[in-house]
Amino acid sequence: MRVITLIAGDGIGPEVTAAAREIVIAAGAAVRFEEVVAGLRAEHEHGTPLPRAVFDSIDSTHLVLKGPTQTPFGGDYRVHIERAEAPGKVGRRSYPSIAIALRKELGLFVNVRPVRNYPGVPTRFEQVDLLIFRENSEDLYIGMERMVDEGTAEAIKIISVRGTERVTRFALDYMKRLGRKRVTIVHKANVLKMTDGLFLRTAQDVAKSEPGFTVDQRVVDALCMELVMRPEEFDCLLLPNLYGDIVSDLAAGLVGGLGVAPGANIGPECAMFEAVHGSAPDIAGKDIANPMAMILSAVMLLRYIGEAAAADRIEAALTAVLREKRAVTRDLGGTAGTRAMTAAIVEKLKA
Ligand code: NAD
Repeated sequence: MRVITLIAGDGIGPEVTAAAREIVIAAGAAVRFEEVVAGLRAEHEHGTPLPRAVFDSIDSTHLVLKGPTQTPFGGDYRVHIERAEAPGKVGRRSYPSIAIALRKELGLFVNVRPVRNYPGVPTRFEQVDLLIFRENSEDLYIGMERMVDEGTAEAIKIISVRGTERVTRFALDYMKRLGRKRVTIVHKANVLKMTDGLFLRTAQDVAKSEPGFTVDQRVVDALCMELVMRPEEFDCLLLPNLYGDIVSDLAAGLVGGLGVAPGANIGPECAMFEAVHGSAPDIAGKDIANPMAMILSAVMLLRYIGEAAAADRIEAALTAVLREKRAVTRDLGGTAGTRAMTAAIVEKLKA
């Protein structure tokens, strides 16, 4: 039985992770959840949003289902972590957000985000089936910012050959397994000639050495325009961290919003599955959050650990509930709450 570290997170996190957990269990997957507290609640209870117990659990399970965690905007807020690295040795580092701290500490170098239409979900576009590969460890997200003087701030953007090769190889490998053929490399190399230029050249070089793929490229602003006009023309997107973050939300909007977009953060030793959306404080605790993105993140986790049958059962049950439209949340055009939608999916699983 595989053990999964469960982080409920903040805002709507506890509601949507409870839904995903209940559904995974109802699907009969051979897994057990080990819950640890991280995020704002951990900060209140333990004085840090990422207590050592979180890393102790993940270091033994190597598998995480994570709800969104809330990070204050602006100011000089940093997440300080302490992690046992060897007997008698404790590593201490700091990061701009909890999600970034986890991705960096766990070596999760790629964020995989499938974005597609689901039956019964009202959208402006049909036949959208995008697979987004976002580099997860470099770019402006390394969190190196400083005030140069009172009126000027600067941030450092890092792009490396090693990081870009690693994410490109991963993307091509993943595509090969799914039989997907076209990848668009996204950049702003016309302005950021060194950093994005390096990303573009390196990704193109790696792709050239792997036959069987169609490789093209887009400047990120032009891509955004094309995506909101003809999203069905794109297949897989490979982007540096910041553009990957922004384009993921844009893409989620094409197929029904943040409530339907799942994600996986993957590294050599560990994987963490979380929805694209954040903690949505505006709707937290009201039983109106759409649990679908979190449920689909759990489906990705189940496929990752070889529980394909349970993953298929959950997808079939979710699809049936979406088609019927009787028990779906407000963002999907229904009136059901998070709990009612979860109960309807569980009922389908048990039928
Ligand atoms: P958000 O994704 O939380 O919310 C954006 C909008 O989408 C809100 O109107 C919200 O109500 C709606 N929404 C999001 N998820 C939904 C769902 N499941 N069902 C229905 N509606 C949903 O983005 P934000 O408001 O910019 O960020 C809030 C907090 O979340 C911030 O502190 C941010 O740092 C954090 N955040 C965390 C993660 C993460 O942990 N991986 C990711 C993104 C944002």
